[in-house]
Amino acid sequence: MVPEVLGSLPLISHGGDDDNNNASFTQHKMDSEQLLTCPYNESHQIRRSRFPYHLVKCRKNHPKVANDIRVCPFNARHQIRKAEYKHHLLHCEDGKLAAEGGAQGAGEMSRPEA
Ligand SMILES: [Zn+2]
Ligand SMILES: [Zn+2]
Repeated sequence: MVPEVLGSLPLISHGGDDDNNNASFTQHKMDSEQLLTCPYNESHQIRRSRFPYHLVKCRKNHPKVANDIRVCPFNARHQIRKAEYKHHLLHCEDGKLAAEGGAQGAGEMSRPEA
């Protein structure tokens, strides 16, 4: 008995077989499918594209944790725990964009420089 060679199996399909739902919304597919960790429950891994919706839903389920969540001033979609808030402000991509994108409104933020 000669086993069949598996190498010729069409395991990889280049056709768009799974583009039957909201294909027009996924311009950056990799980006939208990146998994983000829910600030309300670290065991929640949510796709980036669904993250805002999950936050709204999860916020209602965790009102106590919600008290501990701060919203990023640069992007309302960023919701960060108090403990990580300062760290986030320093590293927020949208914050960097705002800082680099012109001097409008700069100087409001106090940067702790050692
Ligand atoms: Zn969650
Ligand atoms: Zn942010």
